[in-house]
Amino acid sequence: MSKEANCIFCKIIAKEIPSKIIYEDDDLVAFEDANPQAPTHTLIIPRKHIPTLNDLHEEDTTLIGELIQKAKEIAADKGLSEDGYRLVFNCQEGAGQSVFHIHLHLLGGRTFRWPPG
Ligand code: AMP
Repeated sequence: MSKEANCIFCKIIAKEIPSKIIYEDDDLVAFEDANPQAPTHTLIIPRKHIPTLNDLHEEDTTLIGELIQKAKEIAADKGLSEDGYRLVFNCQEGAGQSVFHIHLHLLGGRTFRWPPG
């Protein structure tokens, strides 16, 4: 699996730095955000190092589907299915991306406004 030496999320995947991992399989890792913006704030990431959504290739389509399916399952496990939750990919700094290894934010447990800031 591709790994980038200076990527903090690759280090989380490799367990070189601590995190609260709640799920992992051959393709994905899910862990709790260190600076939660809601009562539930989980990040779901591919093991494959992909810097931004702009770097996705057609071969990654299934992987992205798996991220969303897993987010849905975690949301259900956390009792969020009925009240709702928000899934977010930030792409590039202008949209708030600060870690350049794609990650799906799962946010829930409070009311969200629209449009987001
Ligand atoms: P973004 O701003 O969309 O790139 O999101 C990056 C997210 O990663 C932020 O919500 C951070 O709080 C979170 N984050 C950064 N470093 C860590 C870490 N070591 N463990 C868990 N979450 C982290």
